[in-house]
Amino acid sequence: MRILISEDDAALAEALRFALTQAGFAVDWVDNGMAADEALKTAGFGLLILDLGLPKLDGLEVLRRLRRRNDALPVLILSGREQPEEKVAGLDLGADDYLVKPFSLNELQARVRALLRRGQGSATPVLTYRELSFDPVARTATIRGHALPLSVHELSVLEVLMRRFGRVVSKEQLVEQIYTYDQEVSHNAIEVYVHRLRKKIGDSGLLVRTLYGRGYALDYLEQ
Ligand code: CA
Repeated sequence: MRILISEDDAALAEALRFALTQAGFAVDWVDNGMAADEALKTAGFGLLILDLGLPKLDGLEVLRRLRRRNDALPVLILSGREQPEEKVAGLDLGADDYLVKPFSLNELQARVRALLRRGQGSATPVLTYRELSFDPVARTATIRGHALPLSVHELSVLEVLMRRFGRVVSKEQLVEQIYTYDQEVSHNAIEVYVHRLRKKIGDSGLLVRTLYGRGYALDYLEQ
């Protein structure tokens, strides 16, 4: 899952990016409102963390434009201004939650998890097929309750395949969900992640099919 951070304070943005990457998310960062607006039009994000005081385009305007496009992306507002009317304006415009600076990174991670759980529209968003379960918010995968040692990229591949279980996922779709803007995009790397994932889910009752020229599909292993 990709998270977009829209924050012009570089030190804070770096801290946020570090904390969320550690939590298993792919994180993109933009430092002004225009860049945020453009990035959001290309979609592919699961959550927006939005500072209100942004150069070029105010955070509230970024949010207004997002909702005007009927985009229901969960939005967590960061506000350096403690004026209650700002929070109210943000919530009125369709923000899902807000944090007033300064806040702890633990607090941020907890809010992000809560928003993503709510966004799933279910109290149990865990995806399970046969013996394999994946929790998209906690960023963990288990086989019969045992945690699988997966890298962040392997988890992202698994997430995309599980969300589209039984259907073909192209390499381009995997690239879009796995890589952030500042990372080198490589189709060979996708093959490596799929190869490792295959080994690690070997006794889950599932397999990753390769459909040459089309992509991959997670499916039931015939027994
Ligand atoms: Ca700011």
